[in-house]
Amino acid sequence: MRRKIIIWFLLVFIVIGVFFSFLISSHNKNLKKNIITTVEENNRYIVGINYPKVGIERLDKIIKDYVDNEYNYFIKNYGDSDYLIDRDELNIDCQFYILNNNYISISLTTYINSYKLAQPVNEVKSFFYSIKANKMLSLGEILDIDEQYRLLDYIKKQFNSKHYNAIIDGNLDNIITISSLNRIPFYIDQDNFCLYFNPDMLSSDYYDIIKINVPTEYIKFKFKINYKLISSPTIVYGVDRESIDPKGKVVALTFDDGPSFYTEDILKILKSNDVCATFFILGNKVETYQETLKISLKNGNELGNHSYNHKWLSRLSTTNLLDQINSTQNIIKETLNYTPIYLRPTYGSVTTRIRKNTDLKIALWTVDTKDWKIRNVNRIVEKATTGIEDGDIILMHDIFERSAEALKEIIPILKKQGFQFVTLSELDEIKLLRGEFNGDYF
Ligand code: ZN
Repeated sequence: MRRKIIIWFLLVFIVIGVFFSFLISSHNKNLKKNIITTVEENNRYIVGINYPKVGIERLDKIIKDYVDNEYNYFIKNYGDSDYLIDRDELNIDCQFYILNNNYISISLTTYINSYKLAQPVNEVKSFFYSIKANKMLSLGEILDIDEQYRLLDYIKKQFNSKHYNAIIDGNLDNIITISSLNRIPFYIDQDNFCLYFNPDMLSSDYYDIIKINVPTEYIKFKFKINYKLISSPTIVYGVDRESIDPKGKVVALTFDDGPSFYTEDILKILKSNDVCATFFILGNKVETYQETLKISLKNGNELGNHSYNHKWLSRLSTTNLLDQINSTQNIIKETLNYTPIYLRPTYGSVTTRIRKNTDLKIALWTVDTKDWKIRNVNRIVEKATTGIEDGDIILMHDIFERSAEALKEIIPILKKQGFQFVTLSELDEIKLLRGEFNGDYF
């Protein structure tokens, strides 16, 4: 009898356990890791914005409100420059990471460049959100008081040794205090704990954000971080493609600014039509969308470099330009074990400096579907299928639902016109075979 009771108890425990683990897992399934990219361009200004959307209404609203505020501030105060001088630029970059299935760490970096400014404006804002507590947490809330003092000590040492000029003489103790700790933007992911110091905290002739990397073994958080073991991927990409007749007409579909929520749909459409394309991706989205990118490569598509966060490359200093290109190459290599060979500069603007500073081949386009501006699917289809010539490179964006919708129609129409679809390196190969290639890429 007693044994029977014990067995019943065990059964009940198991059922409850399964029920709760189901609850927890279904709760986490609601987390959607997405980075939204919006790009806007006219005669007066250039705007590139990246921000995360995770499917938690409250957090998503806070992030969106912050981004909208920054955008509205920019439109109100800048963006009125004369095209002949130079266009003003707003760029917002984001990093985000979900820690232990509970904490979401987000940093947003705003960059404004204008003829009105002696130096570009740089500012970081961070958010650290607990899903279980349903609220934002400050550094003070995730570190014990002893750890806070240890952190202060570390920061001061870093400033004294590396950033002495950034601090007004003797002011370090006033700037970096226990109470100021809660105002310092920070970001935590599987291998970093970074603190950011905005120029407004620093001496007046300092315009850059100072980033201090704290070794993760140095500080103990109130929660334990399950650090991910990083192993380099061993993936074999590429499929046997139906052989392409080099004498036949070819066209290359290219997609910029992704990956996004819509990229998987686009990949499905490409695959079901037995078509490959080239995707010019942003470095800051590689980790979030690594599974999508793996599928993309597995299906035989090509990936190209489209900068790290869509800054206007022609305006950047050489150091920052190289950083945009190389950090993107590096993260693609590290995450996907793949090396892009093409660079498509943002806003299609190429300068001699860009050409001089990279070995990547510059790849622009010959047909712009204007899918970033045109909201009507039929008109996008029309742009992509009217007057297309052999060797054309068509520009689209895999960040809009309408682009995916249009693609469903574009492929069959172009096939009917006798086109074969190629990636950019296949296009170059064909040109080489035909003797049309003169070694110049735009
Ligand atoms: Zn772009």
